[in-house]
Amino acid sequence: MKQQCEGTVYRPNNPMLHRTVPCTNPAKVQRGEKWYCGVHDPQKREERNQAFYARLDAEQKERERETRRKELLEELMQAAQAAVADAELFENDYEEEVMGVPPHLFAKLQDTLDRLEIL
Ligand SMILES: [Zn+2]
Repeated sequence: MKQQCEGTVYRPNNPMLHRTVPCTNPAKVQRGEKWYCGVHDPQKREERNQAFYARLDAEQKERERETRRKELLEELMQAAQAAVADAELFENDYEEEVMGVPPHLFAKLQDTLDRLEIL
């Protein structure tokens, strides 16, 4: 005789008293004493859960990374604006400038760019 799955299926609209009914899928794997179909196999369910949480975790990390990138871009824009304002204020006559920008602001721009790169 063919083994029946030991799992149960939730039937919220079941007019009968019991809202969970036995799974009707044929069993495929044996775990301990019990048999399960592919849907209710505890091992497979565990793997699906793990994959689900791993995906949530990856999505969370990606959102954090995106937020950090936006913050750094904002910093970069402010440094760039400060560099332009500085250059206009001092009419670009720094003794040592790097690519037309005061050295301290150039360093700031470069630092922010470096941090963006590693994200
Ligand atoms: Zn089942």
